[in-house]
Amino acid sequence: MKQRNFPEWSAEQAEYVEPTQVVRSFGYDVFANPVSDEAMQYNNDTFGCVLKVEGEIAQNKNAYENEDAASSDIKTMAEKFGAARAGITLVDQKYVYKGHDVPHRYAILMAVPMDYDEIKFGATERHVKEVLKIYAEAGHTAANLAEYIRDKGYPARAHSLRFEQLMMLPHAIAAGLGELGRHGSLINRELGCSFRLACVTTDLPLKMDSAIDEGIDDVCVTCNVCTDHCPGDAISGEKQTVRDETRWLVDTELCAPYWGSYYSCGICLEVCPFNAKALDGKYKKSFVERIKQIDIAERKADLKSGLQQTWQFVEKPEEKEAGWRNRVKGKGDTAILVGGVPMDGLPDEVYNMRELMGMEKIS
Ligand code: SF4
Ligand code: SF4
Repeated sequence: MKQRNFPEWSAEQAEYVEPTQVVRSFGYDVFANPVSDEAMQYNNDTFGCVLKVEGEIAQNKNAYENEDAASSDIKTMAEKFGAARAGITLVDQKYVYKGHDVPHRYAILMAVPMDYDEIKFGATERHVKEVLKIYAEAGHTAANLAEYIRDKGYPARAHSLRFEQLMMLPHAIAAGLGELGRHGSLINRELGCSFRLACVTTDLPLKMDSAIDEGIDDVCVTCNVCTDHCPGDAISGEKQTVRDETRWLVDTELCAPYWGSYYSCGICLEVCPFNAKALDGKYKKSFVERIKQIDIAERKADLKSGLQQTWQFVEKPEEKEAGWRNRVKGKGDTAILVGGVPMDGLPDEVYNMRELMGMEKIS
């Protein structure tokens, strides 16, 4: 992977760009292939959770005996609401997105498990359906926990896929939920990388956890399975320095064509051996069966041949109506950008993202 040094990497604060806009910024449609009604329902549900991120705080504080007791109860409740694992750390303002205000002291990070037997079908609708399903569940998990804390008299805000005011991944590492894998996702020994994150920020005094070292980074140094399987050759051979931190990095520009063309791809998650060890080996058999049958070269060639064309230029619609779609010229067929959401041409983030990446603007 070529060495990069985007100005954004050394900026004081991280800037939020919605993941699908990143893909669009490179000229690809996100829903290049239609998804099932069921998957779309999960997708809609992820947006629905945004309505519950904040709420009324109970007048009387229902205090805990001490921070240990509070943390223990919060973790128990997080599990009750769907998390397999929860960890607590301080909100790091360095990772609060520019233009957002997270006044709380604590961040509770939660790992909501995905079913490996679904996500093992990388680059298919089945994979993305499970991802969306779990993101919706994670949204509800965070919203329910935030409400529980507010009912105890403390401010609490839920963050999940469609409403994250802070970067969850570095907070999750600090809270002991896992180590960053070479494929750019979090891994822990208990869940492999078959999980998604949700977060609640609060001022309820809590006992903090610390980052863990389960030897995962050492495995990534020599494993390379995700690098070998990645159809876009987007997974780095070496760590790179981003925001003063030397870490594994996925080249978004190389990933985007596959992410956009094949249901958010996820082959890197499918093939990560930590999934075989997850949940006491629950997925070991299906992991081995799956990996054995993959002809890497054949799958890569197949996926490459089916990639969508990039946009050449975008036409802004003259009239906005409920349910209209942005039209994209230069690829033949009309392309769907965001179903049913009126936008004035492309969102600014698309243009900002291209600028950040040093690419020419789409005119
Ligand atoms: S596939 Fe191997 S190198 Fe890649 S993240 Fe998993 S353990 Fe690390
Ligand atoms: S999502 Fe697909 S293209 Fe992107 S890094 Fe993972 S394997 Fe590579």
